[in-house]
Amino acid sequence: MNKSELLRILETLSVRPGKRFGQNFMIDANLIDFIVRAADICPGETVAEIGPGCGALTRGLLDAGASLVAIEIDKRIAQFLEESIKHPDFRLVRADACKVDLDKILNNIHQDKPEHCQEWKCVANLPYSISTPFIAKVLDSPTPPKFMLLLLQKETALRITARAGSREYGAISVRSQVLYHTKILRNVPPEVFYPKPDVESALVSFDIVPHPPGRQLIDTLTSIVRSAFAQRRKIMIKAVSTAFGKEKTEEAFHSLKINKLARAQDLTPDTYLKLAIKLCPGSFIRGGQRKTITCRRQPTAC
Ligand code: SAH
Repeated sequence: MNKSELLRILETLSVRPGKRFGQNFMIDANLIDFIVRAADICPGETVAEIGPGCGALTRGLLDAGASLVAIEIDKRIAQFLEESIKHPDFRLVRADACKVDLDKILNNIHQDKPEHCQEWKCVANLPYSISTPFIAKVLDSPTPPKFMLLLLQKETALRITARAGSREYGAISVRSQVLYHTKILRNVPPEVFYPKPDVESALVSFDIVPHPPGRQLIDTLTSIVRSAFAQRRKIMIKAVSTAFGKEKTEEAFHSLKINKLARAQDLTPDTYLKLAIKLCPGSFIRGGQRKTITCRRQPTAC
């Protein structure tokens, strides 16, 4: 979709792209092609697109064979999509992507083929105002996607992919990286959108790790990470002790050889995960051996 096609559609719909819904539409065919290719869709694969807008990326994903669920909040745009995309593998959900039950939506769509709901991808040019809450929601989901490709504000992309010790490293970096290998695939300038946003963007891939941690472990990790980063300049053991008890926390730090003076940004995602395994209430002793359920599911290659 080029700029004049987009302007024609917006005029017909009487839509003036607004900040409220973070409406910056892609108008660069090369970028759209790049995203569709990087999404590496297998025919019939379930893909969720958040904020499809006028369908620039939507059509490319459908052409690549996706079974697509698009979630759009703007009623006029949603109606336009329903009327203009008559594809058997296209479903539109009119909703706020941050509020919907993603699992329920994906399960409803595949009632006839339940094996599909476990395996899905998420591809989107996300409105920047909802990117962090949406990613956090996905990370908390019982069945997170096996792959995500998200166009994000550059600062958010840097936080998602940040390494321990860097200025950008924070709770969202750790939470993303224990579940996904994250990578910036390319930087994207404001010119490829209409209207032009005030910020730079970047395309980020999220590839699920081979043995994703289970729900209980993720919950423990989230609570450790939140406590630690709530006061990132302070020594983290105090905040973690408040949440998990002094003795248990000190024992965990000691056995993992974590420096007692460490601050939140000093620990790698892998060390946070090890700490969560030690502090997870789901860790239990059976037959004298400490066992922890660490595996959520095995993603299958397509
Ligand atoms: N993906 C399209 C549109 C990007 S603009 C493109 O690249 O051209 C962002 C889109 O997300 C708009 O269509 C906007 O209406 C929609 N949107 C904004 N907030 C949303 C939310 N909370 N849930 C679902 N869609 C949302």
